[in-house]
Amino acid sequence: MAKFKILHFKEECISCGACAAICPEFWEMDGEGMAQLKESKQVGDHWERIIDTEDARSRNQEAVDACPVTVIKLEELE
Ligand code: SF4
Repeated sequence: MAKFKILHFKEECISCGACAAICPEFWEMDGEGMAQLKESKQVGDHWERIIDTEDARSRNQEAVDACPVTVIKLEELE
């Protein structure tokens, strides 16, 4: 199984809540009403987390597809 990186460009999030509703294992709304990727770290202009299971990839792909402003990205790592 390849590893993937989930990236969240939080500053452009519009707080619609779709990611947290669809994929609560990975996404939650923080105290300011912004989406937060659980167990992620801030790197430069975004937050990120590495995942390595097909289930995690497919669950987060649903969040990618649901985000109306495309601020969630999934990148396959080498
Ligand atoms: S789906 Fe996108 S815009 Fe909506 S809360 Fe999640 S990251 Fe923000």
